[in-house]
Amino acid sequence: MSLWTLGGEITQVIRVRFIPFSLVPEGPERQLVMAALVAREHSQANHSGFTCGAAAESIEGEIFPGCNVERVTFTQTTHGEQNAIDTMVCSGHKLLRRVALVAAPRDRKIIIDRSDMPEKQPTMRDFPSWCGQCLVNVWENSGNDPNVELLSLRSDGILFLTTIGYAYPMAFEIQ
Ligand SMILES: [Zn+2]
Repeated sequence: MSLWTLGGEITQVIRVRFIPFSLVPEGPERQLVMAALVAREHSQANHSGFTCGAAAESIEGEIFPGCNVERVTFTQTTHGEQNAIDTMVCSGHKLLRRVALVAAPRDRKIIIDRSDMPEKQPTMRDFPSWCGQCLVNVWENSGNDPNVELLSLRSDGILFLTTIGYAYPMAFEIQ
């Protein structure tokens, strides 16, 4: 017997959107992803070869870049999203509006002019994602706003959109 058969309602579903990036209009979302693309160029990923660029947008609308910075000790490696959020905080801004992520192996070119959807319907698992630690960091600087947006651009030009409320419903807080 499984506990899942004992009844009760399914109370939460995750909402995501997949969008060809070239259909994203000029505006803060596009600017944020483009900032993450530039930040990826600065990634220090000597050990994994997996380059991550990120960008954090404050509620005031300012954009702060970040990239992964790998260290030979590995445990001291900085994640791109953490770098962007910490840079935002260091610049005097505490609250996020959205965070973008562009991550792929170093040699992989990121397509940004795609306007069609792929034949195979994308799934969340196909996209570079926030690790658990970075989700905690996003939540901590969300001002308890579940609508802070998370965007991830896949190398084939498809953008993934969700919110911190959907991606991280069991938010860790000190009550
Ligand atoms: Zn992370």
